Amino acid sequence: MTKTLHRVAVIGGGTMGAGIAEVAASAGHSVLLYDISAEAITRAIEGIRQRLDVRVGRGKISAEQAIELLARIVPATELNQLADAQLVIEAASERLEIKKALFSQLAEICLPSTLLTSNTSSISITAIAAGVKHPERVAGLHFFNPAPVMKLVEVVSGLATSTEVVELLFQCVIAWGKQPVRCRSTPGFIVNRVARPYYAEAWRALEEQVASAEVIDAALRDGGGFPMGPLALTDLIGQDVNFAVTCSVFNAFWQDRRFLPSLLQQELALAGRLGKKRGHGVYCWPAEVSPELAVAAVAPENAAKNIKRDVVTELDDVLLLETTGETALALSVQHQRPVVLYDHAVGDTVVLASAPTNPASATDKAVYYFQQQGKKVLRIADYPGLLVWRTVAMLANEALDALQKGVASAEDIDIAMRLGVNYPHGPLAWGESLGWGRVLRLLENLQQHYGEERYRPSALLRQKVLMEMRHE
Ligand code: NAD
Repeated sequence: MTKTLHRVAVIGGGTMGAGIAEVAASAGHSVLLYDISAEAITRAIEGIRQRLDVRVGRGKISAEQAIELLARIVPATELNQLADAQLVIEAASERLEIKKALFSQLAEICLPSTLLTSNTSSISITAIAAGVKHPERVAGLHFFNPAPVMKLVEVVSGLATSTEVVELLFQCVIAWGKQPVRCRSTPGFIVNRVARPYYAEAWRALEEQVASAEVIDAALRDGGGFPMGPLALTDLIGQDVNFAVTCSVFNAFWQDRRFLPSLLQQELALAGRLGKKRGHGVYCWPAEVSPELAVAAVAPENAAKNIKRDVVTELDDVLLLETTGETALALSVQHQRPVVLYDHAVGDTVVLASAPTNPASATDKAVYYFQQQGKKVLRIADYPGLLVWRTVAMLANEALDALQKGVASAEDIDIAMRLGVNYPHGPLAWGESLGWGRVLRLLENLQQHYGEERYRPSALLRQKVLMEMRHE
């Protein structure tokens, strides 16, 4: 238990408040739980009790530990009861006026040394702290849902937050068995900003009818090594919630086209197809058995006889190339022969795109080539950057932009993305291993292909490429 922050108060007994109260109580703190709705507090405590019962049933904790933990969570019906708290974590509804009103009152009720933190996902910590007495003790403590399970906590500093307060919170989060990262109060903090392209690129591929939702999800999951496909993930998060976060980040960045929300997702949200919670989103829930996605094995007579493997692979007359962000058609015209493109693959599945002018046998040869290596093959339409490469390049680009703007350190950005959204690699380490030069080339090709700001390479990416060249 963190000694200097013995008495903790949590404001808001909803999804996050209940989870955070449980986390603090299981670290040994006595926790005051306040909500404007008495019913919400009762519901929160009942929910915690049920979760603890499950853990007792699984032998994770003893029945006595569960009783003790629950006894440490005390309901508070008046804000005044929080006067003795040394750390307040506010997890009330996501509205600036609610949070500002709460923080101003807390500043009057609590000691000047009380740390006042907010679990906000999207509101500026600087804005919450403005006008509050001793704003240097106001910070963000951004837990992820479900708070008792997710390891990551973003410790967010606003303009006025002192480094001592950040340090105290950092140590407190560690003592609670979580992994803290430091970040500046900027739209989306680390995770909700850097993760945007994961969803955005999938919506775009669906809008451009490149492949079905199942194929897009399988490509990122089984080819890219992500724990869940992006579209299925938006169904779990809720189309309304995910769309609102995208809109909030888009607007907070003065409508920078990099963060442009998807019209298709808006349609789902407007239709009430909100995902798993409504039984219907991109998919029907409970999830239907997904159709067999991989392309069936090709008869050996269609296989390439002459394979030359170098930077490019030649399968008889067919050129097999890893995508660099151009279409297979453009390369086919350039090389005057059939071109098949393949995607970056960290898993057992590889995505292929064939020029529409290719004879069918060209694709068959490429499919067979990968199947011989034990890979499953997914075919999509001719799409520049394919699915995994384009997504990883955009994630790495966004991570570099956040790094350049001083949102967080490179190490913390990668930790945040691995623990906050379970990516298989941090986007910066991933970009580095793919080679910054290749990431830049892919984005420049995409930018040229679409003529859009969205694929604008970060200035730091250009610098990284030059540094890379210096070491070659
Ligand atoms: P929720 O709607 O489940 O719960 C909010 C609770 O706040 C309700 O019980 C409500 O009665 C209470 N409340 C409203 N006004 C209040 C006031 N003035 N004083 C005291 N209590 C008040 O919301 P949630 O999903 O738990 O989100 C809470 C906060 O956590 C938000 O700021 C949200 O952005 C953030 N957050 C949410 C998630 C998530 O996945 N749900 C993840 C990270 C952060």
